Amino acid sequence: MFHSVSSKVNFPQVEENILSLWRNKNVFERSVESRRGGPRFVLYEGPPTANGSPGIHHVLSRVFKDIIPRYKAMKGYYTPRIAGWDTHGLPVELEVERELGFSGKAQIEEYGVDRFNARCRESVFGYLKEWEAMTERVAFWIDLKHPYITMDNEYIETVWWAIKQMWDKGLVYQGYKVTPHCPRCGTSLSSHEVALGYQDDVEDPSVYIKFKVVPSPISESEEQKRLYELSREKPAYFLAWTTTPWTLPGNTALAVAADAEYVVVEVGDEYFILADALREQAVLGDAPVIAKVKGKDLVGVNYEPLYNPHQFGVERRRFQAQAELTVQEPREDLTYRVIATDFVSMEEGTGIVHVAPAFGEVDFEAGMYHELDFVHTVDLQGNIIGNYPFAGKFVKDADPLILDDLKARGLLYRSEKIRHTYPFCWRCESPLLYYAKQTWYIKTTVVKEGLIAGNNEIGWYPEHIKYGRFGDWLENNVDWAFSRERYWGTPLPIWQCESCGRYECVGDVGELKAKGGLTGLKEPMDLHRPFVDELTFDCSECGARMGRVAEVIDCWFDSGAMPLAQWHYPFENDTLLEDGRFPADYICEAVDQTRGWFYSLHAISTLLFNRPCFRNVICLGHVLDAKGEKMSKTKGNVVEPSAVINKYGADALRWYFFTAVPTGNVYRFDDKMVAEITRRFLLTLWNVYSFFVTYANIDRFTPNSSGTSPESSELDKWIISELNQLIMDVDTALDGYNPTEAGRKIESFVNDLSNWYVRRSRRRFWKSENDADKQSAYTTLYECLVKLSKLLAPFTPFLAEELYQNLVGSVFSEAPDSVHLADFPVADVTKIDEQLAADIRLAMKLSSLGRAARSKAGIKVRQPVATNFVGLDSAREREALERIKPQLMEELNVKDIIADSFEKVAALDDSQFAIVGEATVNSAISIHLSEDLKKEGLVREIVHRLQTMRRSAGFDIADYIVTYYRGDPYIKGVIEDKGFADYIKQETLSRQLIEGMPDEGAFTESYKVDGYDILLGVKRSG
Ligand SMILES: [Zn+2]
Ligand SMILES: [Zn+2]
Repeated sequence: MFHSVSSKVNFPQVEENILSLWRNKNVFERSVESRRGGPRFVLYEGPPTANGSPGIHHVLSRVFKDIIPRYKAMKGYYTPRIAGWDTHGLPVELEVERELGFSGKAQIEEYGVDRFNARCRESVFGYLKEWEAMTERVAFWIDLKHPYITMDNEYIETVWWAIKQMWDKGLVYQGYKVTPHCPRCGTSLSSHEVALGYQDDVEDPSVYIKFKVVPSPISESEEQKRLYELSREKPAYFLAWTTTPWTLPGNTALAVAADAEYVVVEVGDEYFILADALREQAVLGDAPVIAKVKGKDLVGVNYEPLYNPHQFGVERRRFQAQAELTVQEPREDLTYRVIATDFVSMEEGTGIVHVAPAFGEVDFEAGMYHELDFVHTVDLQGNIIGNYPFAGKFVKDADPLILDDLKARGLLYRSEKIRHTYPFCWRCESPLLYYAKQTWYIKTTVVKEGLIAGNNEIGWYPEHIKYGRFGDWLENNVDWAFSRERYWGTPLPIWQCESCGRYECVGDVGELKAKGGLTGLKEPMDLHRPFVDELTFDCSECGARMGRVAEVIDCWFDSGAMPLAQWHYPFENDTLLEDGRFPADYICEAVDQTRGWFYSLHAISTLLFNRPCFRNVICLGHVLDAKGEKMSKTKGNVVEPSAVINKYGADALRWYFFTAVPTGNVYRFDDKMVAEITRRFLLTLWNVYSFFVTYANIDRFTPNSSGTSPESSELDKWIISELNQLIMDVDTALDGYNPTEAGRKIESFVNDLSNWYVRRSRRRFWKSENDADKQSAYTTLYECLVKLSKLLAPFTPFLAEELYQNLVGSVFSEAPDSVHLADFPVADVTKIDEQLAADIRLAMKLSSLGRAARSKAGIKVRQPVATNFVGLDSAREREALERIKPQLMEELNVKDIIADSFEKVAALDDSQFAIVGEATVNSAISIHLSEDLKKEGLVREIVHRLQTMRRSAGFDIADYIVTYYRGDPYIKGVIEDKGFADYIKQETLSRQLIEGMPDEGAFTESYKVDGYDILLGVKRSG
């Protein structure tokens, strides 16, 4: 006997019970250990940060990380899975700054780096319990007891080792470069971090600024002479366009395109100079043109700076050899000049570009090339320095003040607004500013070919990411700016001599401890700031002190080093690269990680070993709200995972994530979808399961241990054929990292099982004889449910376990303790009957067309009709129709089915027939009902009412009853017909049909059926 199963089910409750079963029986550990000796399957867990609550998108990636290893384990793979936690970096620091109410680095320094970092260390596991609870609750099986943690000394030591390897290959360098800088976080961002934070539709000023030409006596060409003359007549101005007014005080040159046409136009008492092609755009189309010149004729012309830095207490430096800057003497009569460059656009602006070498990458390069002046007017917090009228303001707040000032001085021609794409800090959402700064780089561009070649070996799901998003990223590779001017991170292991300036990179703790003259060592060591900052040693060249540089490293480097650092390689586990633990077979994260973790993993592995460190990657879409908007706390549209799970269960949520959209697409998360999935799939399966157990217990059915059935009937043969086809399809799809495809196949099988197999088999389970046909039906349905439980185990591990425990565990004591310890089913291809499958597909299609025709005619399903014409042109389908005719007649409740051509059926008289068709198949139901058909319909209706009453009265399915009836003479006549009476008795388990008032104690109801009054009563028969 199976445990009885109610058709009412509370999935979250079922799941809680299963969780304790797994815990008590150590099922996860055993599911790994029992496959030891099998081929290895390696998952790398992309480490989340546990300093905030897990969100619904974390559930998404966690269930996808779970499904593949579960499947592989059932296929016999040894799949230990190790959890990891990302503990360093800006997100952690920002959280602590928020707690302390800090707004910048000065306050951290004042508070003390040791105290600040101690708080960071505490805060990283602030939400660990929530993470662990969520992980367990959604059944993401991973070893949470022995996780790797990026802030552990061993972990850091491996990261140092990796940096040292790159250092020794000459791949680490310090560059003075313009980098995207977050003024709030006070640090540079790498290009992949910048890529995470672009925002569209950002409003900025769009302004045309006037730079006053200095009438220069040195004239090299006729054109310059002419310009000189003009500018003595009336003031002449170069017109330049910008969206960042705050960079204007840093202007030190104007750039033109050498070969482009420029014009001098007259506007009132002034002359403006700009590109001919952009006159219209600058609203100067109607201004009279006084002169035309080539860009190259403008080169060398001097103009007045908008702001002479010396008057505002700001240093002026000049590029000399390469990136070296030397301070220049103050000058009252400072002028700058026009240069020609190749970055001048003729698409927007004026064809004259404002150049500020401190604030842009191309500007900086132009500065080096043309040996321009370099004026930096902004500090690292993004505030204007010096004593400008707008000094002390944040750059974006200074914009309007600068424009007011220029306007007052007559130097502003037009001021508008523009909407464009602008990068923001991906963490704190401050606008990024482009600054010239010293930064440490890894020369990833040197291994670009290796990065691209390695990517060829990786399987991407969805596939388009491979040569699309990820491939493009690699093609456009730039060096990795990997130092951060921050506190809580892996310290950059580089020391510098205070005297000779030499750098040394330290690759491990042993090497550090062996340094001559080491001071500041405290045991036990903590490889974080400020403790490593206190370690100094002798310079091996000059004997002076060497101290560590101030920077820490990008936390993406930490997580990208996890394949090695989680094993403390090469200090321990030195066989890692050969023993199957590297590379990973599988990783999975959301699509934003293409430029984050996916890239850092790939880059580090390529730099160190010139090979990729993962073989397959599922790249997930983002989870948006139901309206397609990003979830955010401020919008209040964040979905709490626990709310969904407590209502529907984790399986429902898992199934939603696996099947709702093709892998990689965006989810528009809606509670209603999860409810719909529960109803459409989970409850359908549950009802089949509950139906099976209920009847199997009545008939005391015991499955045989082989688990397979002898299938006597065609219906059994068909569902077993479909089952084996399903096993094959699911296996193939999961092997190809496509849970969506696999899940959708399972769903359609369960649908067929419920709506065709079980529905059409009902009578076989109901009938009183316990014959071979009934046995075959039980055995067949049993086999389907047991194999389904195994197929579903990776998808919906709870429901699968529930089915397995009752159907297998309670019957076979020698069976594995859990469905997750069982093997994945293997398809028996000899049982796949393609012709039979095609026949039944046709039967399903024709019955759905026939039902549509019936409903078009308004004839109820219980009313038999005379004829169904079926239009089919394919000879193969005509043949099939002969085979499926009996079941189709039963399905459609028709007395005869006649095949004809599609055209002829389509042309039938629609006053006689209701016709419904598809592309190549159609179906026509005769509308006319004879008196006999009407009587038969009435009897079926009465049977239906009696069956409903049996349930309402609470009778058991197998109870025999006595039925009472009273009604019009017509009703009486119909029921008294011998054939009909026998039919009613058989269908309702009635021993007697008694005309007259029901007995005391009978369950009675009265109806109007087809316009006739009838009173019915049912009573258990003793
Ligand atoms: Zn920031
Ligand atoms: Zn030295």
